[in-house]
Amino acid sequence: MSENKDELISAFTKMMKQSGRIARRSPIFKKDLKDFGGSIKLQWKIGKLYGYQIFEEDNYSFKIGEQIENPDLFIRIHNPELALRFFNGEDMGFSYAARRDYKGKFKVQYVEGFKIVESEKGPRKQRISHRYLTAKALNDKFKHPFNLMKLPPFQRGMKLISKKEEYGVYVPINKNLGTYENKVIPYKVFEHFIEKASNIVVQKYCGCRRFNACEDHDEEIGCMYMGDDTYEIKITEDKGRVVTKEEALDYVRRAIDDGLIPLLGRAMGEAGSLGVEDTGHFLSCCFCCSCCCINGKIMTYGPNANFTMFSRIEGVSLKVDENLCIGCGKCVEVCVFRGREMVDGKAKIDQTRCLGCGRCAEVCPTGATTIDIDDINRVDALISKIEQFVDVRDQSALLD
Ligand code: SF4
Ligand code: SF4
Ligand code: SF4
Repeated sequence: MSENKDELISAFTKMMKQSGRIARRSPIFKKDLKDFGGSIKLQWKIGKLYGYQIFEEDNYSFKIGEQIENPDLFIRIHNPELALRFFNGEDMGFSYAARRDYKGKFKVQYVEGFKIVESEKGPRKQRISHRYLTAKALNDKFKHPFNLMKLPPFQRGMKLISKKEEYGVYVPINKNLGTYENKVIPYKVFEHFIEKASNIVVQKYCGCRRFNACEDHDEEIGCMYMGDDTYEIKITEDKGRVVTKEEALDYVRRAIDDGLIPLLGRAMGEAGSLGVEDTGHFLSCCFCCSCCCINGKIMTYGPNANFTMFSRIEGVSLKVDENLCIGCGKCVEVCVFRGREMVDGKAKIDQTRCLGCGRCAEVCPTGATTIDIDDINRVDALISKIEQFVDVRDQSALLD
């Protein structure tokens, strides 16, 4: 018993020290800390063992075996075995289950792998996951479970995502941006990939919109996946299906008409969550809404480092004409990336966060917000850039 306790204390201490090194060295963490108002206090309880950490702008401290007054977040790991693995730097993944009426309490699961299970509708892949952590925010500093990813203890096991593994771009939906060969830009981009794709799978419904009981957008438009790796997706009829090129184009048309923002790119995490290995032939297409989409939540609440994962199309610019702005705030409401804020009753754009999706310009009632692209041929450049990361063509046909 005492040997196990010593091992746990030693690993707990190691995690605390590593957290301090990240806090001191990481410029991105310094930015993340500002989002917590410049400091955050974490109370831990592992089995019966307490410990705390205080992150401040110029200071970091921790203590094992004690509780702190007025913590901002209480984190509990019930199973010391799992705590040990986490403290020793194992990447436990991050899958959380919050109630719909999330009031600051949530559980984090770790995904051990997948198993094939038989169902009435045929074999399907099922996750093997275990709860390893529960947390409770004790004030409004901590706003969402994804805030956890901003904290050093949860960044230790994370491997840096390289641009080769994750590359995504939001395609502007604004129809005033212009047309390319008489088609709105997102439609043109999708048409290119759908035409080339060896296989296309669509989800029968959008998990994010269904989970959040979305009232503003069509729940029946979910993610779309293209390329050879999608042959490995084991999806049952009630969850999704393989579609023809015509059906895929129609799906995209419905998404655009519904005001959903297309996100296209390589997302190895997305392939992994479906139990599929991404070998460079898996194009993820998400149709995001500002209200429910998990990608928007990750961008809003996750680490500022996430902004390296997505790009704005080169040549796209956003402007606000202050003389026309009536300060209604609609643009701030629809922006999922915290790219807008109100200053003295006028809307401002944070150019470092704005990803050029064009949603704000669509909803602006006075035309104060405008989106422009300097050269419509940038669309070709965008397609080529995505193709550097993902090849959706039939690879066996290329060998002939
Ligand atoms: S990622 Fe986008 S399309 Fe996919 S389930 Fe979430 S909101 Fe729906
Ligand atoms: S939606 Fe338009 S008018 Fe309203 S705050 Fe934003 S920029 Fe101003
Ligand atoms: S400010 Fe927000 S809503 Fe507007 S284009 Fe940029 S990311 Fe999209």
